[in-house]
Amino acid sequence: MSATDIIAAPPLGGPTLPQERRMITSIPGPRSTELLERKSRAVAAGVGHTVPISAVAAGGGVVVDADGNSLIDLGSGIAVTSVGNAHPKVVAAVQAQVAQFTHTCFMISPYESYVEVAEALNRVTPGDHEKKSALFNSGAEAVENAVKIARKYTKKQAVVAFDHAYHGRTNLTMALTAKSMPYKSGFGPFASEIYRVPTSYPYRDGLSGPEAATKAISLIEKQIGADNLAAVIIEPIQGEGGFIVPAEGFLPTVVEWCRANNVVFIADEVQTGFARTGAMFASELFGIVPDLVTTAKGIAGGLPLAAVTGRAEIMDASHAGGLGGTYGGNPIACAAAVASIDVFENDGLIERAREIGEILTPRLTALQASDPRIGDVRGAGAMVAAEFVHPETGEPDAALTGAVAKACIAAGVIVLTCGTYGNVIRFLPPLSIPDALLNEGLDVVASALAEN
Ligand SMILES: *Cc1c(COP(=O)(O)O)cnc(C)c1O
Repeated sequence: MSATDIIAAPPLGGPTLPQERRMITSIPGPRSTELLERKSRAVAAGVGHTVPISAVAAGGGVVVDADGNSLIDLGSGIAVTSVGNAHPKVVAAVQAQVAQFTHTCFMISPYESYVEVAEALNRVTPGDHEKKSALFNSGAEAVENAVKIARKYTKKQAVVAFDHAYHGRTNLTMALTAKSMPYKSGFGPFASEIYRVPTSYPYRDGLSGPEAATKAISLIEKQIGADNLAAVIIEPIQGEGGFIVPAEGFLPTVVEWCRANNVVFIADEVQTGFARTGAMFASELFGIVPDLVTTAKGIAGGLPLAAVTGRAEIMDASHAGGLGGTYGGNPIACAAAVASIDVFENDGLIERAREIGEILTPRLTALQASDPRIGDVRGAGAMVAAEFVHPETGEPDAALTGAVAKACIAAGVIVLTCGTYGNVIRFLPPLSIPDALLNEGLDVVASALAEN
């Protein structure tokens, strides 16, 4: 078959798409090239892309492009399509809702699906205290609102974020984000009253969890003061920063300090949430109960939705009209979220994330044993990464990382990189990926590493 033989109408997505890696052209093929040329003429240069294809369908564990190539998806559009792309229950819920009504604005005429999502979030997030939720459109917007809520509740202003943190691309969330290129460079000035302290990065800091926490807390006390501090925000496992898993005891120590000092502890679970780590929320893995949790990415099977969920007395601190937005909790996104949360809870996806981890981690650890350029393998469940280094010095090897990722994509496997030093390949497959496809994807990663 050649590119010109490809059927005019793209295949429907979802789990019935053939679950195979199929390379018909090199990447990008002619149709993808055509779209990418249009993109470069029409779309702002700042909106980059890493996989040079024109996507036309996706489902199970594959993404199909306009040239008929079928790529193994080990990225889920950055941990978004955890239930699987075009999941049938999400598709049905969206189709039913879109034919009923598309928008009323929840702040004008409320509807049931928004309330249902809030009820579900209050139930599934960590802790059995009384909770409330508010819905937004994106992870960054959820983080912005969590900070607003914490400031209103504590009547304090300062916010602490950590080294390697990623919280979004809006002005306040750029300030919270650690990495300059590409997220912040040239886009300042940034919001004030944001302070950064070291996190726990066992592979690089050699500290125990309590030691790393004491170091951070001491800086907070000396340089900011608990009397001025509204909130501490942290990703329980850092995402863009390199899938950094804090040492045992780090998070509980920080949470305990926050609680003793009237500081709101915000867990940014935008990337780690919804079964991804083999728990419904990564906070559970560390035995912590956050005051506020921000969610987005995996929440609605690919539709834009985000939330802040937390202690009722904190969530209720804002006056009416202080929180919201035109589209926040859009009915179509809410219908998709209700369907997705049902799938997470009732279709065994937490267990599935653990099973995926039991394939990913041993295979990457085995690669590490034979290749000292893999300095560290870490993560939880279906959120696992390999950190690439120069073996003699342990210095980050971003060039190797980029070359391996590029070779994987050329061979039809979508992998994403991350890390402050750009030297981490992260694996975030859809939880709907078949084992055979996951293993084939990892075979391709191993070959790409051997060839670079
Ligand atoms: C992706 C991400 C965000 C930002 O979410 P957007 O929907 O892209 O605004 C915030 N926090 C974390 C941890 C993320 O991974």
